[in-house]
Formats: sequence, C-alpha cells, structure tokens
Amino acid sequence: MSRARLIVMNAALGPLDYRVPHGMQVEPGSVVVAPLGPRQMIGVVWEPERLATQEVGENRLRNLLHVYDLPPIAAPLRRLVEWTADYYLSPLAAVLRMALPSSGALEGARSITEYRATGRAPERLTPQRAQALERIGERQGLVSELAIIGGVSDGVIRGLVKAGAIEAVEVQIDDPFPVPDPDHDPPALDETQADAAAELREAVNAGQFAPWLLDGVTGSGKTEVYFEAIAEAIRAGRQALVLLPEIALTEPFLKRFAARFGCEPVAWHSGLRQSQRRRAWRAIASGEARVTVGARSALFLPYRDLGLIVVDEAHEASFKQEDGVQYHARDVAVMRAKLEEIPVVLASATPAIETRHMAEIGTYRELKLPARYGGARLPDMAALDLLRDPPARGRWLAPKLVEALEENLANGEQSLLFLNRRGYAPLTLCRRCGYRFQCPNCTAWMVEHRFTRRLACHHCGHMMPAPDACPECREEDALVACGPGVERIADEVALLFPDARTAIVTSDTIWSPAKAAEFVARMEAGEIDIVIGTQLVTKGYHFPNLTLVGVVDADLGLAGGDLRAAERTFQQIQQVSGRAGRGDKHGRVLVQTHDPSAPVLQALVSGDAEGFYAAETEARRAAAMPPFGRLAAIIVSSESQAEANEVARQIGRAAPAHDNMAVFGPAPAPLAMLRGRHRFRLLVHANRAVPVQDIIREWLGGLSWKSSTRVTVDVDPYSFL
Ligand code: ADP
Ligand code: ZN
Repeated sequence: MSRARLIVMNAALGPLDYRVPHGMQVEPGSVVVAPLGPRQMIGVVWEPERLATQEVGENRLRNLLHVYDLPPIAAPLRRLVEWTADYYLSPLAAVLRMALPSSGALEGARSITEYRATGRAPERLTPQRAQALERIGERQGLVSELAIIGGVSDGVIRGLVKAGAIEAVEVQIDDPFPVPDPDHDPPALDETQADAAAELREAVNAGQFAPWLLDGVTGSGKTEVYFEAIAEAIRAGRQALVLLPEIALTEPFLKRFAARFGCEPVAWHSGLRQSQRRRAWRAIASGEARVTVGARSALFLPYRDLGLIVVDEAHEASFKQEDGVQYHARDVAVMRAKLEEIPVVLASATPAIETRHMAEIGTYRELKLPARYGGARLPDMAALDLLRDPPARGRWLAPKLVEALEENLANGEQSLLFLNRRGYAPLTLCRRCGYRFQCPNCTAWMVEHRFTRRLACHHCGHMMPAPDACPECREEDALVACGPGVERIADEVALLFPDARTAIVTSDTIWSPAKAAEFVARMEAGEIDIVIGTQLVTKGYHFPNLTLVGVVDADLGLAGGDLRAAERTFQQIQQVSGRAGRGDKHGRVLVQTHDPSAPVLQALVSGDAEGFYAAETEARRAAAMPPFGRLAAIIVSSESQAEANEVARQIGRAAPAHDNMAVFGPAPAPLAMLRGRHRFRLLVHANRAVPVQDIIREWLGGLSWKSSTRVTVDVDPYSFL
C-alpha cells in the first residue's frame, strides 16, 4: 500500500488519507500513528473502499509516522466495528476505541513502574499523609491510581515517595498467563447436562456460527455445562470469552474457574489497574490469553483466534450500555459470533422475551436444563399481602417474614433480604413545611445515606451533608425519612435481632472485586446471618446454607410501568429466589406486595413461568413492541431548557412520514433534568421491516443545532427515563 485510509481516534473526524512512507508495511487493521495538524493521532488502517470520503491529491498527503508492532485488527472485528457504528448510529472512532487500549499497551513496554507503601512512616506524618497511607494499605499502582485510592493529589503521593514511605516497583507486563487445563478437574455431568455439553462441544468444533440459548433453572449447572464448551475451545487451541453482567461477579467466577481449570482466566473490567489492563490487552491480542472473563467492554477486544463466546445471565439489562455508544452487549455478542463464524451461548434462568422469541422461531437453538443439579428442589414461594398482614408502624418487614427470619436464625441458617434501593431512605422531607430535598442538577430526590451521613443523588452523584434543620423553614428535628432503603432495613433487622450478624450488599459496599471476594468468604465461613442487598446479590452466588429469601417490596419494579417492568420484576424475583436452598437444605421465598393478584406475582407463586411469558409475549405482539416491532429514542438535552425544547420541536417537525412508523413526542423526559441538562424525548416506533437507522440518519443529518445542545439516539432502548 502506498497510501492508507484511516479511522483516527477522534469521533468528530471522518476518515483521513495518508501516504505510507517507503519501507513501512501496513495493511487493513494496522494500528498506526499519523500527524494531524501539529499533533499526533492514533489511527487504524481501513479498507479504503469501505469508507467514503473525499479523495485527497497525492501531493497533499502527509506521511504516516509509525506503525505499531501488533497483530492488525482482524477483518471480522473490523466488520463488527462497522456494524455496531451503523446499527447504533455511532461514530466509527467511538466504537473502534473500545477495541484499542491506552497507547502504553501499544508501545509494548516490557515493564511499567508502579508504587506501593514501604511500611516506613515518613518523618513528617501529616493527617492527610496518614490517611492516604492507610487507604492505600497494601495496594499498588501508578502514582495517579494511588492518588485516587488515597483521596489526595498526585503531588502528595510523590512527596511520600521522596519521604521513603512509598517506593517504586517494576511490574513485568509481558509475563505470560498460565494456560487453563481443560482436564484439570471436570465434574461428572448428569445425563441432561452431558447431552447439553456434547452439543456445545460439537458446535465449538464445527467452526461455524451457531447461537445457543442455554435455558436452565438456577442451580441446574449451566456454568458447568458451558465450562465444557470452553474446555473444548482450549483443546482446539482457540480463545474463549465469557461476558458477565457485573464486575462484582468476576471474583467468585475466577475462583470457580480456577477450581475447574487449574488456574484463573484473564479478567477484563473497569476495576483493573493500568498495568493489568495492558498485560491483559496484549495477551488477548497475541492469543496467549486463552480464556477471558469480563464485563461488556471485553466484547470489542482484538482476540487473535476467538472460538467461543458465552454471555452469562444473558437477560441482564446491565449488558445495555447507557452512555457513549449505547450498544447491547448481548446482541453485539451474537453479531460478533456471526462474523467470527463461531458459536455463542446465551445462558440464563430467565431469558429475555427477545431471546425466547429467537429460540421459538428457530433462529437460536435451545438447550434446556429443567431441574436443579443433584435433586435440590427449587424453593417454595409465597406472597405476603402487606394490606392484610402489615408490618408494625414505621417498620417494613411483615410479621410472617420476621417469624421466618427468627426461625432461620435459630436453625443457624442464612437469610437474604432483597430490596433494590440503596441508602437509608429515598426521600427526606420536612414535616412542618413540606420541603423535599431534591437534587439541584436532576429531577430526582436526594437519597439519604446514613453510614456516610450524607444525602446523595443517584443520577449525578451530587452530595450534601445530612442536614439537621430544614433549609426552608429552619425548623430543627422536623426532617423525616420516607420509605426504606437497604440501610433502613438493616436498622430494622438490628432492632429485631440485636445478635444477628448482618451485611449490606450494594454498590456502595461492594465496589470492587476484592470487596466481593471478602463478602463471599464471610458468607462461606458462616460469619453472616442476614444479608440485606440490592440486585447485586440476586445472581451468580452459590451459598448452600442460605435458605430464606425475603423480597421486601415486589411492587417497586412495577412502578413506572415501562415496556419491560413486569418481565424485569419476574426475572429479578426469580433470580433472587434462586439464591435460596441451593444446598441440601430446602429453601423458601417470601415476597411482600400490596397486590398479590398482579399477574407477575401470581405467575411467580404458582411457578407458571411459561404462562407468564406467553401472556407477556402476546401483549408485546399485539402492541407491535420488541421483538415484534422496533423502538428508537431520540434524546435532546441542553443546559438551556428553551434551547432543548426548541431543538426537540425542530426534530419533531422534521419527522419523516413513513408507512409502518410513528414518531411520538417530543415530550419532557421523565428524568426532565439530568446533570444540569434539560431533557426532551422523542420515541420512534416502527415495524420490524422498516430501516429505522437509515431513516433517522437521514432525518437528523438534514438538521443542525448549536453545539451546546446534544442529540443522542438510543436504538432498542432499555431505559425510558
Ligand atoms: P447455574 O449456573 O445453572 O446456576 P451452577 O453451574 O452454578 O448452576 O451449578 C449449581 C451448583 O451445582 C454448583 O455448586 C455446581 O458446582 C454444582 N453442580 C452442578 N452440576 C454438577 C455436577 N455435574 N457435578 C458436581 N456439581 C455440580
Ligand atoms: Zn443529580
């Protein structure tokens, strides 16, 4: 190639052409450095015919500066980047960026300098230094990483290095990862499991695209079954990728994987340090990372020879990315498998309606594991009617649930209370004047967090100290907390059972894989009697001595009533009840509700999942909602309400008329203000056959607005806020 067309890592720029200087070898996929004005930019060489741009005369081309010594981004991944950008209406650069690491990993430095505490106190130990050192503890990282952990500036860390309290250490980032042994310690599968595993092994060896739905009840051994497929990929010398919905789940997964395969897989998630991230990226690109487990961002990495993708808990909404490129990792995983010509396994005890539908029409093949492994029974479930059997005044746990907790404590068994609400109370108001604490940046109440003695906005992170008096009428002692969060339930448990050992599990307490590991260890050692947690505890965990699950408020997820409210409630309660009775002791689940006759509760209690799904699916079909129809949201936001409103109306006026497509709105979004920006929404609803993306691209492409207004398109939206 004497000239090269690049996608550069700047989403505002289109494709750019360069000259390839004499002696430099590039091909499509090569990662290069190019001059741009006075600066330098990383870019990826692309097939010129796939990127439309104005031809630049030979004489105006500038030379490429450098090509990295890395395997080129392979064709299937290049096609995936194009497909994702096209489908989700995103710039190619924004998608491609997810495939590339920081420039450091591109360089191929063999080592990186990290820092850690020496244990020697500095001569001058200010309170700030002392606190930083205490927070850092045994942890290690770049100066900037330690500064964040220690809650201080980089300067303070450097000062501590000079003072001898922190020292430099060289970390080798090209150290090889151990290779998992497919035959290290495989379980003896029962017959159903063995049949399913055989199908998947065959699919791995067939070397062609094959989407599978692995639909098995909680505890049926889905993980053991897809481990066999991974083992087969390892035997074939290929790579496997496992996507998990939550980084908190990686830690237990790593342990479990190590028990089965003799060593841990390579982890990829936002909690990695720079050095870990570089090492993992390089091993993934070289093919040396045989099995990678990660959050959705692991999906776009440049695996050298991918042989299998598994999406575990595939129904989870957290696979949908809500900012930047708003892609759904489950759907993109299927597309990647198609382009790589490999199998993809979607594992779930409660598959999404979209996924079930694909299985029903035969696009996905289905493997069923209908019973728990080893004869463990699924727990019994009962609804507790909060109107007939209400909790005591100012309490949230109904007498029957309290009784059950008491029994469990007496039997030395563990219990779990599930409430999908962080903090102490979702709303604080003044009893005297009615003042309510609202976030100044968002349409949201400030949530009280009693442990940190603060009010916090769960949308933008705004914090304020917990007030003593009403800011409006100045009355002291008039502020009341309304409604429960997990902290408040924990308080109630402490009042009821002062001797019970409790743990709160939310993203506030379990914010790193290490914290998750600590929680698991304490549960396994029997050091916790009652867990109070959000959706973070609903999945993945396997605690044999946990025999009671209490759902504090089953109605919570149904409020708001978006497209998937009932489905989500069903999945969540089914998942959390899946934590009960996984060992040889029988489990039970008590679900508190104000409306035990709601179809979703009836279905849960009677165990009629099929009936529930059938009814939901029919309702979707009747309303032409996904998967039978398509949705796309257009969100307009600006710091100026008038401006956002005007642009939204401009977009609304320009809406193209199209058969089988309707445009609703604009209307103020339910979350009318977010991070200081006013928001308006339009919703596009279309027949499946309508090329919605092309229509929207053309529609919005013909309009313009000031750069202070942001317009984003959410294709297949999950959030309707
Ligand atoms: P799922 O992923 O469907 O929830 P798991 O794979 O976690 O189920 O299995 C539930 C529990 O049963 C785990 O502790 C697992 O190790 C155990 N188990 C499942 N199948 C077998 C088997 N064939 N032999 C031994 N243990 C098994
Ligand atoms: Zn806010």
